[in-house]
Amino acid sequence: MFSTLLTKPRVAEFDLKALRGGNRRALAKAITLVESTLDADREQAQQLLEQALAHSGNSIRIGITGIPGVGKSTFIEAFGLHLIAQGKRVAVLAVDPSSPIAGGSILGDKTRMEELSRRGEAFIRPSPAGGALGGVAQKTRETVLLCEAAGYDVILVETVGVGQSEYQVAGMVDFFMVLMLPNAGDELQGIKKGIMELADALVINKADGESVNLAAMTRKHYTAAMTLIRHTLHWSPQVMTCSALERENIDTVWDMVSDYEQAAKADQAFQARRDGQARDWMHHLINEMLQLKLNSNAAARQLLPVLEQQVVAGEITPYTAANKIIDCL
Ligand code: GDP
Repeated sequence: MFSTLLTKPRVAEFDLKALRGGNRRALAKAITLVESTLDADREQAQQLLEQALAHSGNSIRIGITGIPGVGKSTFIEAFGLHLIAQGKRVAVLAVDPSSPIAGGSILGDKTRMEELSRRGEAFIRPSPAGGALGGVAQKTRETVLLCEAAGYDVILVETVGVGQSEYQVAGMVDFFMVLMLPNAGDELQGIKKGIMELADALVINKADGESVNLAAMTRKHYTAAMTLIRHTLHWSPQVMTCSALERENIDTVWDMVSDYEQAAKADQAFQARRDGQARDWMHHLINEMLQLKLNSNAAARQLLPVLEQQVVAGEITPYTAANKIIDCL
């Protein structure tokens, strides 16, 4: 037992050292390892992540969502450059469950953030492909840890509202921001129900040119709407306007996020939110793992259609049926 432990490859440790030294290739390689679906890679990736964990957590994680065309990439470019000007290092990750192949996603595409991608202080990574346990969200969470171990101060996680992606991103960030268009009304915004409740801020983009007044009206509309929604002791969701294209008010948006960070940390809410997210995700993974075990259990698979019929026929209760399936494990 001990000998196998001692002879375990120490590649992961080496990678971590290079990664922590700010070596971008080491970070990219570590992420590729984490994204791999090969069992052998998975084990090594977990080793690396366990080691990275001690050096992670020192960033602010910001989720950014909004419909296609709202200006996410333009905003992230402007926002990222502003952060760099403040002396920060910025990582941009994407959660796109619709991405069919690794690297095939539109989100996180470097050409969408040309100026930012040329900066040494920025690291941009397209959405991983889904598939394995926990899917895209799991890989993105792990990538966040690696980026933090690599010393990135701000992690931007971008998503477009496909499937559950906004909910997943909201569940992995410290601050969740919804970008909107300057035309009042939820219907026109294509915003899903429930997303507003998750937002720490609504940022109405494209507040420039002829849209300035409309943006101001939209802001009023949503400021009123948001007063009815979630509040915590330390934070009321903010509504603001900006122009990513003209790089106006981008600094105000960052100041707001900084205010949030300060308030949440003073209130112990910052770490509490992260703790809750980690716990929730653990439970999510337990459920997924149990489901996988069940799917690969021959006895359970055989029994399932039989029990379904018995339940439908009113011969046994769903409770008894569920119990019988669990007994197979
Ligand atoms: P995404 O699909 O959400 O990433 O949106 P993009 O960043 O690709 O922007 C979509 C279009 O809106 C592009 O033509 C941008 O130039 C334009 N756009 C983005 N931000 C602004 C803005 O602040 N003002 C105006 N007028 N146009 C913008």
